[in-house]
Amino acid sequence: MCKIHILGNWKMNHTQKELASFCEEINSKWSELSDKAAYGIAPQTLHLSTLKTKAPKGLLVGAQNCSDQESGAYTGETSAVALKDLSIDFTLTGHSERRQLYKESDEFINRKTKLALENGLTTVLCVGETLDERESGSTAGVVCHQIEAGLKDIEPNKKLLIAYEPVWAIGTGKTATPDMAQDVHAIIRQKLYDLGHDAASTPILYGGSVKPDNIEGLLECPDIDGALVGGASLKATDFLALCRAGGMRNA
Ligand code: PEP
Repeated sequence: MCKIHILGNWKMNHTQKELASFCEEINSKWSELSDKAAYGIAPQTLHLSTLKTKAPKGLLVGAQNCSDQESGAYTGETSAVALKDLSIDFTLTGHSERRQLYKESDEFINRKTKLALENGLTTVLCVGETLDERESGSTAGVVCHQIEAGLKDIEPNKKLLIAYEPVWAIGTGKTATPDMAQDVHAIIRQKLYDLGHDAASTPILYGGSVKPDNIEGLLECPDIDGALVGGASLKATDFLALCRAGGMRNA
């Protein structure tokens, strides 16, 4: 069984003051969480160091994105080398908002994922279908293609995680049912196996309107190894509730 990961994606939210009060609240409850699961937050890039300083020791701090290049004239980009140098624990790649709003292609996401892993960063490759793709019955094909293209020329790596995030469930309040999510997670695990990756020990997280009141059902599924959470990770009380649920699953 894979270690359960509960990761928050703060997107472009939270000021320094909000970050400080979030940290104050989670610091006061941190010792109550099971140490069997892993918990992390990806804030805006400019808050990475502050979160690292103020968050409880043991909270993983991650980037929401990184560049496909190591260094150089790439204005506005963040290098995986610099993230590693700051002791940042993980990065997301291929989040659907990057794919949709910034037109990131599978090839571009593959370069980021490869570079991040080569630099020793735990890397969460995000995949997921749109509503049209689900309704036309192409979920498995889309997700498998994103996995195959995103992992092209990448050797099996213990620092790789996958997040299945159906686009129609992100920030919409519509969650995939545990059965729907489990079906796709099983397809992803099989695909990882077919590609020669360490399928059994690669955590596959579910993301898409996960909240304290629906996480337990999702975590009961055999192929769901945690959650990548947007909106509900912004409030410390909700994030702690999600972490508690994650810790229980590993108990
Ligand atoms: C996300 O941004 O990765 C996400 C899953 O968002 P939400 O939980 O708000 O749907």
